[in-house]
Amino acid sequence: MTPIGSEMQWLSQAEREARILAPYAMHSCDSSGRKHPEAEHPYRGPWQRDRDRILHSSAYRRLSGKMQVFTGEMGDYHRTRLTHTQEVATIARTIGRALMLNEDLIEALALMHDIGHPPYGHAGEDALHECVADIGGFSHNRFALTIVEELELRYNGFTGLNLTREVLAGQATRADKQNAGLHRLLEVQLVDAADSMTYDAHDTDDALKLRLVTLDEMQEVPLVRAVVAEVRSRYHQLTPQLLRKTVVHRLIDLQVSDTLARCQRELQASDFNSPAEAIASDFRIGPGAELAGQKRELERFLYERVYRHPRLVAVRTAAQDRLRRMYEGYCSRPELIPAHYQERLHQVGPRRMAVEYIAGMTDRFCEETFAAHFAG
Ligand code: MG
Repeated sequence: MTPIGSEMQWLSQAEREARILAPYAMHSCDSSGRKHPEAEHPYRGPWQRDRDRILHSSAYRRLSGKMQVFTGEMGDYHRTRLTHTQEVATIARTIGRALMLNEDLIEALALMHDIGHPPYGHAGEDALHECVADIGGFSHNRFALTIVEELELRYNGFTGLNLTREVLAGQATRADKQNAGLHRLLEVQLVDAADSMTYDAHDTDDALKLRLVTLDEMQEVPLVRAVVAEVRSRYHQLTPQLLRKTVVHRLIDLQVSDTLARCQRELQASDFNSPAEAIASDFRIGPGAELAGQKRELERFLYERVYRHPRLVAVRTAAQDRLRRMYEGYCSRPELIPAHYQERLHQVGPRRMAVEYIAGMTDRFCEETFAAHFAG
């Protein structure tokens, strides 16, 4: 080991990346920079700075109070939007490091990917979308861009976080998946793939823990059946809790290992010399065809038996009703929206403002606000 002292060689960001990243990875020296130019930071690269800006944003912190699939009243065990995000970032970084992609860019993209979620998950998003469907609708992926470009106020001289163009473009492809499929950096593709691996595993875990389904019922799904059989043959005396947990981390491990093996094989064979070559090719980051099919079966089961479970449908219906009434209430009485949003209200109008204000709320704040102003 090199002793710390005068002989120590400090590496610049570019030197470090040149040593550890593949030619098809995005190197920070090739970044297209920011809308408002900023001097380089002495020891953090551009995507480390983006990651930190997202991490310190108000919208990111509020993810701890936003549901992923299951609401707060159902217990404290299951994932919130924040812990989901951290799991996505971790899984994406694990794969990214093994594929020699840019982990800083991956982490920034992952921490940002769900920052635009409204309260009550997709149910909340659907309700808000209906409210403004005739003026462009509402999408959490697009709202993430609005947050980081317009709503977060942290710096003098400009609104938003002034993130790099790569992070903004990566999020933009999430907002517009049909048109953007051909132009996505491998780092962007990876975060999407990790998102799916993460929720397939943790929604299985949470659904079992909340007893919405049993492990026996879930073995209808061939992937779960195979994993349970493998875990049981390896460990003979697992308690039900340990069995569940082992099955879930095996589900993560299987998806990560399969994706890695397939991608390493194909990346080696394709010999891309730049991110542009990788983007232009047919190669896409994700699991092999067999596992992709098995994941679709698992997702179908989760959709039908978990996401549409009567306990969740009841919570969701009540939440959507609250959001609609709040939207109507804020449209007819915009003075209820805090004074520091007045300028924004003039810019975007009362309907968009109502949706943006509601979308920023945590589940709990939304319930309190509803009770205070609109419950009568
Ligand atoms: Mg997600």
